[in-house]
Amino acid sequence: MLLTITTTERPATDLGYLLRKNPARVQSFPQSFGTAHVFYPEATPERCTAALLLEVDPVGLVRNRRGPAGEGYSLRQYVNDRPYVGSSFLSVAIGDVFGSAMSGKSKEHQELAERCLALEATLAVLPCRGGEKVLRSLFEPLGYTVKARGYPLDSRFAEWGESPYFTVSVEGKVRLSQLLTHLYVLIPVLDSDKHYWVGDDEVEKLLRRGEGWLASHPQRDLITSRYLKYRRSLINDALARLVDEEDPTADEAQEAHAQEEAQVEESISLNEQRLGTVLAALKSSGAKRVLDLGCGEGKLLQVLLKERQFEQIVGMDVSFRALEIAKDRLSLDRLPEMQRQRIQLLHGSLMYRDKRLAGFDAAAVVEVVEHLDRPRLAAFERVLFECARPATIVLTTPNAEYNAKWEALPAGKLRHKDHRFEWTRAEFRAWAEGIRQRFGYRVHFLPVGPEDAALGAPTQMSVFARAKSK
Ligand code: SAH
Repeated sequence: MLLTITTTERPATDLGYLLRKNPARVQSFPQSFGTAHVFYPEATPERCTAALLLEVDPVGLVRNRRGPAGEGYSLRQYVNDRPYVGSSFLSVAIGDVFGSAMSGKSKEHQELAERCLALEATLAVLPCRGGEKVLRSLFEPLGYTVKARGYPLDSRFAEWGESPYFTVSVEGKVRLSQLLTHLYVLIPVLDSDKHYWVGDDEVEKLLRRGEGWLASHPQRDLITSRYLKYRRSLINDALARLVDEEDPTADEAQEAHAQEEAQVEESISLNEQRLGTVLAALKSSGAKRVLDLGCGEGKLLQVLLKERQFEQIVGMDVSFRALEIAKDRLSLDRLPEMQRQRIQLLHGSLMYRDKRLAGFDAAAVVEVVEHLDRPRLAAFERVLFECARPATIVLTTPNAEYNAKWEALPAGKLRHKDHRFEWTRAEFRAWAEGIRQRFGYRVHFLPVGPEDAALGAPTQMSVFARAKSK
């Protein structure tokens, strides 16, 4: 397996300093699965290429039980693509051989390590599960120009179709440490396999290597799932933390903004009316097991806990801080055992499928949708209406039209700085109508708060009832 890294940034041979490998020498580094060699096929002031050649020893792999999983004796253990393609072996070698360059450190040329350079990396053979489309969707959002050449499975049998193998080059103006980090994470993601057991520390590794780019990557779900080998609990952990990472100050800002929103809405104590209406809808649905999704600081949970009808109450939020406050508000630590068993708080994101949300009778989603990025609404819809799929869903959101009536609110402004959008009544209905059709729910609408003849009520609520269980 061959990886080359080329720069045309003069003097190009400075690449040797950054990689801490002398362009004039060939060096070899033993790995537990074979040997990594580093050499420079070209090294001129105009253009310099460093090559990492990885020899993977398939027989050694079987002996060390690191080969591809095979039941008992199988030829696949000995004859497979691992020695020839980019895979997690290559990532391990990159980390080992170019570790200091990947972490952005350079003894002699720190300023060069911090500079964006014209760099191109070429992988002789890279398995790309999902094909060129997935390959591009991973590197292009990071600013690379991608070139890919695919190969048929067997050139003599065109009808067998394409192989997953590509010769890939990615080119961009980036720091060397970024290029190496992107390769380190994305090679095994494209290969969608790993030669070692994926445990908790893999989450830490992903978050560390993904710092600064993964949280905002449009394919972060795919990257995370594949990187963590589809291990649901690890993925949930990583994704919840990635959402948090997007804006480290978000929790505090959220708190301050929530207070502002409360002030705007205070005059009619809208919050109380909202809680009352939601509670009534949940009660009349006959639900025993209820979810409060995006429960925030737990105001609704507090109300639910007082109602004996609800035997199991689960609050979920993406904000760890909000959950801490909820825990205090509910005095969870001091509740008598019977009460304590009725309620549970979960840290998680509504953007991701979550097994823990299955099997409930009803869910409340109170003033949450408008906090979600519009392009990500579709993910939320599937998580709630397709995966969790409770019989009843009570959802509230501001009515944008009513904002004209708030004295404290300048025209055209949203009620809360963290709101990504606010819907008019027509927009909300159109959205809910789409849900009804796509997911098999009936829906009806209720105004919450004092209704204005022209503008409607300040809060709009929809109650979805599952029409058929999928
Ligand atoms: N339902 C509460 C809080 C509303 S504020 C109430 O009515 O008081 C919106 C809440 O949604 C915040 O607590 C925020 O942390 C949460 N939230 C935002 N994005 C989320 C996501 N992707 N998954 C889960 N919760 C989310």
